[in-house]
Amino acid sequence: AVMVGRRVRSRKRWWRVVRALDEFEEAAATPVGRLRQVVDAMAVEMHAGLASEGGSKLKMLLTFVDNLPDGSENGIYYALHVGGTNFRILRIQLGGQRSILGHDVERKPIPQLLMTSTSEEFFDFIALSLKEFVEKGNDLQLAQVRGKDLGFTFSFPVKQTSVSSGTLIKWTKGFAIEDMVEKDVVQCLQEALSRRGLDMNVAALVNDSVGTLAVGHFLDKDTVAAVVIGTGTNACYLERADAVIKCQGLLTTSGGVVINMEWGNFWSSHLPRTSYDIDLDAESQNPNEQGFEKMISGMYLGDIVRRVIFRLSLESDIFGALSSKLSTRFNLSTPLMAAMHEDDSPDLKEVAKILEETLDIHDVPLKVRKIMVRICDVVTRRAARLVAAGIVGILKKTGRDGTGGITSGRVKGVKSGKMRRTVVAVEGGLYTSYTIFREYLNEAVAEILGEEIAPYVILKMMEDGSGIGAAMLAASNSARSVDTVQ
Ligand code: BGC
Repeated sequence: AVMVGRRVRSRKRWWRVVRALDEFEEAAATPVGRLRQVVDAMAVEMHAGLASEGGSKLKMLLTFVDNLPDGSENGIYYALHVGGTNFRILRIQLGGQRSILGHDVERKPIPQLLMTSTSEEFFDFIALSLKEFVEKGNDLQLAQVRGKDLGFTFSFPVKQTSVSSGTLIKWTKGFAIEDMVEKDVVQCLQEALSRRGLDMNVAALVNDSVGTLAVGHFLDKDTVAAVVIGTGTNACYLERADAVIKCQGLLTTSGGVVINMEWGNFWSSHLPRTSYDIDLDAESQNPNEQGFEKMISGMYLGDIVRRVIFRLSLESDIFGALSSKLSTRFNLSTPLMAAMHEDDSPDLKEVAKILEETLDIHDVPLKVRKIMVRICDVVTRRAARLVAAGIVGILKKTGRDGTGGITSGRVKGVKSGKMRRTVVAVEGGLYTSYTIFREYLNEAVAEILGEEIAPYVILKMMEDGSGIGAAMLAASNSARSVDTVQ
């Protein structure tokens, strides 16, 4: 009788697990109909954000970039990239004719302490790292970089006042250097450079998505939008200047201007939100903000998975005794989650190892390891498909999604040769290093667009694109070109 009782109890618990998982899957589901609603909502919010300041949760920020690199740029340029987990310094040599002759990168993790320090300490660290990088380069010594142009990729929402100045609107991705908010970012950097005796000129201040668009356009002139899916997420695209209603009379030489959407803050009631997302948001540093980002980007995906397993281990003993590691935020990183998801060994060895080493969960049977993979799959698939909907939203807003041209199942644009080839540059670890994520994303874009339009839309992977792009924009906005005119 005791045995039977135990078996019944454990069956009951198993049933609870199954129910919790089903509920989660259902809440997180992204059938194509729902994705189309997200596409429409994105396009609507884009309009609203362009119509008036504060008109939408999408800030649709003006970047002052109106001419994207065309491949003719040449010379040696430096770039700094401050963004998510890593800080990067680059030196590139451009040779005109769409060629990059040389390219050096140094990556440094940003010390956790600095992310919540003061602006002076933060920029001192950056300036010192740049100085060390310059001094290491044998070809160029400190004296030789005097007056050199620098591109500065700063991957946070910035209200630009020109192509080379702007103030920080707010922090995202766990950064919280309070005295920086509303300060001019370039001025802070420029002052730190002088303190370190580096005489360099910040010629372009760009968001990472804008840097990615710049390098995409340098390599392929049909590139009109860019997406970043790394620690955080964002997108930018080339808009007609006269569509930016909130900046009446905006004149640009090309008639176009790049808009930094800050789509991480996008919100719509059509988003498939689960109770885990609600908790994650409530416990975050920035509740009610960056809602789209919290369902998509590298800072959060691992933590959504952790929350699901935590709940399952409260409800059952499938993960053994409750591990205290499970209750701490961010204890499961997205790269480790990806490693579990992509474990292709028959007995899911990697899954077991990661559970043991990072979450102190031991000896889980194969059946439970499979559940782990399933949870990772739900979280990643939803994230990738939401990005796809966002991308199609941009295509829709810019008239490149083929809609409006479809009559009785025929695509007018395609038949009359009006459909244009559209390239979207994509950067960030989730796309470049997480194969399943990339496949889900590519697949969903094609699924939403349908088979007649999909062949016209190409997603291109850009590694280190944002930094290189900033250097290219520094080249095209170089102070020296002004000097020559004078
Ligand atoms: C920031 C964006 C940035 C994106 C990707 C977001 O958290 O707000 O400015 O482009 O992360 O790095």
